[in-house]
Amino acid sequence: MKVAVVGAGVAGLASAIELERLGVNPDIYEQRYHAGDLAPFSATMLDIGLASVDNQIKHLEKNYNIKLKPLNEIKNVVVHSPKSKFSISGKMGSFIKMGQDKESVQQQFLKNIKTKVIYKKYIDYLKIKDQYDWVIWADGSISVPIELNIFEPTFQGWVRGAFYTGSFEPNRADFWFDREFAREGFGCLTPFNNKSASLMLQVNGITRQELHDYWDTFVNKIGYKSMGTGYFETEFQTGRLKKHVVDNTLFVGYAGGFVEALWTQGVLFSTISGAEAARSIVKGDNYEKKVKQLVKTNHNIYDLRQRLSRLDNQGLDILIRMLKVPGVKQLASTGNYSGIKLISRLITRIIGEDSKGNDY
Ligand SMILES: Cc1cc2nc3c(=O)[nH]c(=O)nc-3n(C[C@H](O)[C@H](O)[C@H](O)COP(=O)(O)OP(=O)(O)OC[C@H]3O[C@@H](n4cnc5c(N)ncnc54)[C@H](O)[C@@H]3O)c2cc1C
Repeated sequence: MKVAVVGAGVAGLASAIELERLGVNPDIYEQRYHAGDLAPFSATMLDIGLASVDNQIKHLEKNYNIKLKPLNEIKNVVVHSPKSKFSISGKMGSFIKMGQDKESVQQQFLKNIKTKVIYKKYIDYLKIKDQYDWVIWADGSISVPIELNIFEPTFQGWVRGAFYTGSFEPNRADFWFDREFAREGFGCLTPFNNKSASLMLQVNGITRQELHDYWDTFVNKIGYKSMGTGYFETEFQTGRLKKHVVDNTLFVGYAGGFVEALWTQGVLFSTISGAEAARSIVKGDNYEKKVKQLVKTNHNIYDLRQRLSRLDNQGLDILIRMLKVPGVKQLASTGNYSGIKLISRLITRIIGEDSKGNDY
């Protein structure tokens, strides 16, 4: 059986690990000189909002035999609204490193693959699909799904990130929601360790030029002005695919619509979709069925994203104040889907009550 994997990112490498485990050595193509994002950043695997997964790292090891060493555990998440903040403590997930360093997810995955990646090779979808029995498309973009008219967009915007040195709490993630600098997106501070961190801002519905003004407002407002180095900028677009298999091609990772629209998390679902695509090819499993739950979860998260988008800054402050109420706080911190439902209900209440002029 001839299988091509296009893209040596998280999803492509996960599919290669599983293919090899099942006895198939794929051809793995990567356009870059190395596997992994060009700019390193500390990403979160937040175990919040995932109905059936309470620890992503353990889930991958137990169900897919994929071992991932995180940078640190996330023990404290602080969510800031313009005038308030909400802090949750407990086992909240893990920080992982993205990039090309040896601790990065991509390099960790790469170590588990015997097949040599074919680097510096850009692949054209239309040319490759007839040369293989199966193609796993993992190019980290939605351009082919758009061409095939199977992509439905949900959230689009620009991200700017920077690397900071200083003093940080290595187990704490901060998120900022503020319409003034993030519109319906957010900012976040995620440490690599106690001496360095990445700061990121994700703003929807703007141009790249506008991003700089939003960034300046962001760093001024949270007090991180002009300390950053190593800036990176990237456009992102989340969405869902009408189908994930076209002829002999299976779409995985970002290209399969497996990045969610709230925190833009995608490592877990990209890994799962890659491994499930491999299993479907070799064992004849139904890939659409295997990824159905992932699609549903991302849809629920997008629903919350849309509800959040309906709150102005005052509404965001009200939400954070509501979340601090004892009992409500415990429910919202359960780390599973009920937390998302609760927040959705609170938002509906704010919008409804707010329009009647009630004061919280
Ligand atoms: C700014 C930002 C922040 C994020 N933060 C988080 C986070 O905190 N937590 C989280 O879980 N997820 C996060 N994500 C999402 C996460 O990075 C993605 O889920 C994940 O990288 C998707 O993996 P992938 O393999 O599909 O794509 P990628 O990692 O993008 O890999 C695609 C690979 O394919 C290669 N390629 C592209 N086209 C071709 C071609 N034609 N031929 C050959 N090779 C090609 C690329 O060079 C690249 O190496 C973030 C994403 C972004 C953009």
